[in-house]
Amino acid sequence: MSDTIFGKIAAGEVAADIVYEDDDLVAFRDLHPQAPTHILVIPRKPIPTLNAVQPEDAELIGKLFLAAAKIAEQEGIANSGYRTLINCNAAAGQTVYHLHLHILGGRPMQWPPG
Ligand code: C5P
Repeated sequence: MSDTIFGKIAAGEVAADIVYEDDDLVAFRDLHPQAPTHILVIPRKPIPTLNAVQPEDAELIGKLFLAAAKIAEQEGIANSGYRTLINCNAAAGQTVYHLHLHILGGRPMQWPPG
C-alpha cells in the first residue's frame, strides 16, 4: 500500500470508523467532520490524485461513485441531498495524497464552495 494515512487505513494498519468496505474500496468517517455526515470513500489502490487516474481505473472510479450513492442511502441523506467532492492538489485543499471522495450531508450546502 501507500505510505499515506489512508493507505494505512486501507491496509488495516490504522483504525478508522469504517462504514463500508469491499475488495476495491474502503469508506470511513472523516476525523474532522465538516457536516453532520462526512464520509471519505477511497480505493484500496493508492492513487495519489485525480490527475493520476488512468484509463484502466475507469471501473474503479465508477465503483467509487456507486458506493458513495449506496452509503448516502445507508446514512439517510440520499433524499434530502448531499455533496460529493474530490480535492485535487494543494490549491483545492488536498491534504492527503491518496484519492478520496468526500460525502457531505445532513445540512444545507452553499454554492460556490470556498
Ligand atoms: O481533500 P482533503 O485531502 O483535504 O481531505 C482530507 C480529509 O481527511 C480531511 O477532511 C481530514 O479531516 C481527513 N482526515 C481523516 N483522518 C486522518 C487524516 C485526515 O479523516 N487521519
